[in-house]
Amino acid sequence: MAEDALVLTDIRKSFNVGSPAEVEILHGIGLTLEPGAFCALIGPSGSGKSTLLNIIGLLDRPSAGRLAIGGQATLGLDDAALTRLRGRSIGFVFQAHHLIPAFTAVENVMMPLLLNRGWADAGMRIAAEALLDRVGMARWRDARIANLSGGQAQRVAIARALIMEPVLVLADEPTGNLDTAAADGVFDMMQAMNREQGMTFLIVTHDPRLAKRCGRVIELVDGQVIGSAS
Ligand code: ADP
Ligand code: MG
Repeated sequence: MAEDALVLTDIRKSFNVGSPAEVEILHGIGLTLEPGAFCALIGPSGSGKSTLLNIIGLLDRPSAGRLAIGGQATLGLDDAALTRLRGRSIGFVFQAHHLIPAFTAVENVMMPLLLNRGWADAGMRIAAEALLDRVGMARWRDARIANLSGGQAQRVAIARALIMEPVLVLADEPTGNLDTAAADGVFDMMQAMNREQGMTFLIVTHDPRLAKRCGRVIELVDGQVIGSAS
């Protein structure tokens, strides 16, 4: 049995610690995602979804509590070790694609491999092209991002998030800027990658229609998990 993709134990997060404006945003979150899960994270604006995703993604540290990614506990790891774990284990997809507009699709998808190894080799381009093929973007692999539609760019962003074969893919409103048809296409893509590659997905969405398509829905209200139907 593989390790759980994610285990959160009593995660708390406060901002402005030690000042009069100190405020606790996450109030003791416990959550386990089994390998291969496809989960939605829903909740009202301001409920702490992005704060939680940043903590799970090792972009921010909790004020208290513990987390483990693919069986690797993070407590006590220094910044360099967290950065390595993040690069190896986590793929991110944001609402804005954060691709480099002047670079081509294949160059953007190769970027994490390049940054990880520090040099380019032919295998990287082949791997990136294969992934672009999988997300239906083979025809556009040499197109600059600036010349793609929002839905096309988001598919490239998903390919980039998957190139390191992460244990866990975190998506913060990945279809928030897309029309219904493009959102469905991007969502289909994530579901196919989940089924075929077994990667675990945690997707923040405002769209109840998309949340319904997830195997599990976790609801955050006022910094607490109130429902996690499986
Ligand atoms: P969501 O993604 O669910 O809309 P967020 O996680 O972005 O919610 O924000 C949750 C709450 O935390 C909000 O009230 C927000 O204003 C507050 N918050 C987020 N980041 C910070 C920060 N760096 N400093 C202070 N407050 C913050
Ligand atoms: Mg948010």
